[in-house]
Amino acid sequence: MSRILLLGGTTEAGALAQALAGAGIAAVYSYAGAVAAPRSQPLPVRVGGFGGIAGLCAYCRAEGIGAIIDATHPFAAQMSNHAVAAAAALGLPLAALERPPWQPVAGDRWIGVASMAEAAQHLVGRRVFLGIGRNELAAFGGGDGAQAGSGPRARRFLLRLVDPPQSPPLANADWVVARGPFTLAGDLALLRAHDITCIVSKNAGGSGAYAKIEAARALSLPVVMVARPQIAPRLSFATVAGVMGWLAQGAALGAAHNAGQLRGV
Ligand code: NAP
Repeated sequence: MSRILLLGGTTEAGALAQALAGAGIAAVYSYAGAVAAPRSQPLPVRVGGFGGIAGLCAYCRAEGIGAIIDATHPFAAQMSNHAVAAAAALGLPLAALERPPWQPVAGDRWIGVASMAEAAQHLVGRRVFLGIGRNELAAFGGGDGAQAGSGPRARRFLLRLVDPPQSPPLANADWVVARGPFTLAGDLALLRAHDITCIVSKNAGGSGAYAKIEAARALSLPVVMVARPQIAPRLSFATVAGVMGWLAQGAALGAAHNAGQLRGV
């Protein structure tokens, strides 16, 4: 009996896990292991990298995986590209659950950039909220972007992290430990309490991290918005219902065993 491999780590992946479990579809939920205590899931869970494309192929073969659903974060480009390559190598159907990017609306003051390095060159004011997680903080660690130093003109950063850091993740930084989804009231209070002058955000899309964008709009703060990385072409759905519909068509043909027919949907 083949199973679905659900690459997770997002709110949307959790919703899809619920739908799969509810429909009685055999699946395994995969976490990268980036968070100390990941949320429990209504599916069997595995944790940790596969060991590149070859490792992912070996895992799929060993575990009888019949289809891959990529519901990772839009900025998890390496995992997503590995999934495309492994699915192609094994002839497995692959679909992504991909939330649309946010679009600016009236009142937004976005500064669009293509990378964290570019974001570091467009910071405004001395109190910057880096709402980007912990993996790409190095871009803000020196040079003009950071205005590093300890004098009164030094720039100070506010970080929001899922796990408490073992050591300061960035010079001149304060941090709060919190896990989304976040609220407008909470993020307004956070930005005010730290006198934030500018926000750096990934264009993640979805609702869980959108409160900071709304709060910035309400306070008329600039948002340095980092565009998404390129992912290899793949079948993609914006909703859990879309993915479930794709699977249902495959199920009508004999579930994930019919990899070729699923792929043709
Ligand atoms: P990444 O740069 O694309 O992935 C780095 C490596 O981590 C991958 O090559 C893979 O290791 C492993 N990996 C990533 N996601 C995995 C998964 N779901 N299951 C098993 N292994 C996984 O991704 P990332 O930015 O480090 O993100 C890691 C996880 O955090 C993802 O699940 C993502 O959904 C979640 N997340 C990311 C962000 C973000 O902004 N990047 C934000 C929120 C949540 P191997 O090559 O060894 O297989």
